[in-house]
Amino acid sequence: MYDHIRSGLKTWYAKQGRDLPWRGVGDPYKVWLSEIILQQTRVAQGTPYYFAFTKAFPTVKDLAMASEQEVLNLWQGLGYYSRARNLHAAAKYVVEELNGVFPSTYKDLLKMKGVGDYTASAIASIIFDEPKAVIDGNVFRVIARLFLVDDNIADAKTRPVFAAIANELLDKENPGDFNQAMMDFGALQCAPKPMCANCPVQEYCMAYKEGKQQQLPVKVKNLKRTKRYFHYFHLADRRGTWLRERVGKDIWKGLYELPLIESEDEKFPSHRLAELNLPGSEDDFPVLFKKVHKLSHRDIIGTFYKAESPSHLEGYQLVSHKEFDRYPVSRLIDEYFHSQEMPKPPSLFG
Ligand code: SF4
Repeated sequence: MYDHIRSGLKTWYAKQGRDLPWRGVGDPYKVWLSEIILQQTRVAQGTPYYFAFTKAFPTVKDLAMASEQEVLNLWQGLGYYSRARNLHAAAKYVVEELNGVFPSTYKDLLKMKGVGDYTASAIASIIFDEPKAVIDGNVFRVIARLFLVDDNIADAKTRPVFAAIANELLDKENPGDFNQAMMDFGALQCAPKPMCANCPVQEYCMAYKEGKQQQLPVKVKNLKRTKRYFHYFHLADRRGTWLRERVGKDIWKGLYELPLIESEDEKFPSHRLAELNLPGSEDDFPVLFKKVHKLSHRDIIGTFYKAESPSHLEGYQLVSHKEFDRYPVSRLIDEYFHSQEMPKPPSLFG
């Protein structure tokens, strides 16, 4: 059965595989970039970032020599900023510790920051022909359906079950192409809404035989979501906009933000306005924008107010409108500026 499925998928891929810009480039740096960008990001959203990064940093050395701020700025809008910081750290590792030579085995690739089993398997198989099966969400789905595996894919203990099947199925002669075939097949044919009618491996699909395609894969998350309440104050005048860099082990580290009061709840934090040198009461601060920003384990409830700029603000810096564009911000803050129709330096004051 494995042989039939394997050859069915290979034939399907030869005709219907996606033509993606990082395919066939033969450059581990570019494949690595694409894989990191595409973690938790759809292909359509990630592709412009791939082009932007390869244009700004054509080689791993260029990326290593950039400042973290430049990297974060280019990453802006993709979310999960730790990916960008790891990307930068890993580029430095390759240049400084490995003399600019990209690791060429699964084991050595794993030593790069931000590279886990999935990315190491993808690069090792696609560029270096190492027989390592890649397991992403698409592959989980295809295997769960073909082999009727109903283990919970959100449970880490389940992974070896899927890995064993994926490695058995893998085409050892051509592992890179086969891994890409599996991913494309899961993305296009055996998608969340599968197209079983014209599926080339339908006759071997156990879920299809039992009519269980829609129930697989099983994914039961047990995450308790938490909420955080961010009250942002857009304080700007002709001189510029007050910003500060987020530091510490919190979300959005290294990104810049507007003056913030984080509070226990959604209520306007009247009693804490002095922290930002702001006089007045709630009525003086109309809400300009409000948005629930969803992260993997928590919701950030962001509320934005506008107020007069103080002459001095401890812990923040006044960034001129001309320079503003060079400061990377979170997607939440970016959306606020777009909602006010001032995506690039706030023109109202400039
Ligand atoms: Fe997926 Fe349907 Fe094909 Fe089975 S028959 S592999 S569920 S598309």
